Amino acid sequence: MAQSNRSLGTTAGRERLQSEAPLPLPAEDVEARELAARALNLFRSPANFVLGVADVASLPQGSRVEIAFAGRSNVGKSSLLNALLGRRSLARVSNTPGRTRELNYFAVGGNLFVVDMPGYGYAKAPKSLVKGWTQLIHDYLRGRPQLKRVMLLIDSRHGLKSSDLEIMAMLDKAAVSYQAVLTKADKPKPGDLAQVIRETEEALRKHPAAHPKVLATSAAEGQGIEDLRIAIAELC
Ligand code: GDP
Repeated sequence: MAQSNRSLGTTAGRERLQSEAPLPLPAEDVEARELAARALNLFRSPANFVLGVADVASLPQGSRVEIAFAGRSNVGKSSLLNALLGRRSLARVSNTPGRTRELNYFAVGGNLFVVDMPGYGYAKAPKSLVKGWTQLIHDYLRGRPQLKRVMLLIDSRHGLKSSDLEIMAMLDKAAVSYQAVLTKADKPKPGDLAQVIRETEEALRKHPAAHPKVLATSAAEGQGIEDLRIAIAELC
């Protein structure tokens, strides 16, 4: 042992050691690995429902980062939140009577709130409800510096709909960063999925507050959940 240590002190020993050492990873790979580890760590801790907010005066105090999830009703938001937060029925809380029109707050770790926004686009929703929802969302989006990004969920079978375009206009106007997240990516054929990703990215290019990358996810099969966690960890 002593002899081998001594031999490493010689030029030949050093050369041997260098040739056996693994090549250093490119900086982007090191960063990507660190981010993946941070994401894993962030979502390892259990998420908890904290409160439902019906008007902006009741928003929680403090400086926790907020990432909000929005989408048409039935887009798969509860399923995706459950997959993201690793809890089978956590986001069902948001679908209980009285909570569907609120901003529902879930605490993740010590520095993040995941905010479940009310689903929109109900064809038959009464006008008064739509008005109330629009006002709440409008007030929230315009006055919440803790809100770092809205994940805008789009059904991968249908692509962007007019009600999505309306909320995108609201987000652009409020200058809130948002990112399109396709749901139910296990449903379309791979070629159709690739096309809806391309079309969505193309449409988003015209929107100043939109993130250029579209994420494709499936709550049913787990596809894209890690990427979504990484995108969130990057903002925390
Ligand atoms: P929400 O109204 O946006 O909260 O939507 P839900 O999460 O309740 O989902 C609406 C419907 O889509 C339900 O029937 C789910 O089982 C289904 N669904 C949700 N996510 C997925 C998915 O990733 N893949 C498939 N195939 N179905 C899904």
